[in-house]
Amino acid sequence: MPQPVDKHLISQMLIMSTLWKLSFLFALIPLAVGYLILTSFASPIAFGLFIGAGWAILSRLIPTRGFSFPNTPYSTDLIHELNEIRIQEPTCCDSAEIAWETIAVRCQNCKASHLDRARPDLGRLRNDGFIGRLRLLFLDGHPIINNNLDD
Ligand SMILES: [Zn+2]
Repeated sequence: MPQPVDKHLISQMLIMSTLWKLSFLFALIPLAVGYLILTSFASPIAFGLFIGAGWAILSRLIPTRGFSFPNTPYSTDLIHELNEIRIQEPTCCDSAEIAWETIAVRCQNCKASHLDRARPDLGRLRNDGFIGRLRLLFLDGHPIINNNLDD
């Protein structure tokens, strides 16, 4: 379902961006707890906590493309660009309806592309059930389709 580019979408993006940043803090807790236990005695569970949390943090620090940092699917630049599109009067056609489709922001009326960016997995209702949640876990909210592979 294409999502209309409106205030609701922008606020949703801002919330997801904040949650994504907060998840660093939540990952630091098991990392610290695991480390503290490991300093006194060798517990396999503590080691699991330590490497699990460490891996979660590392996977987010390593940039996937264009050396963007931090490696968030909800970057401030993207939110800013979307807000610009929302504010500006669309010039593509008379009854423009700008919405974010899976691969790009396009006008629903004339299909003109306004922003060539795939939509990240927002906190939205999913219709692909368990597989979709599994995919979300693997991709960390990043869109599965990447338009900027050639960059
Ligand atoms: Zn249009």
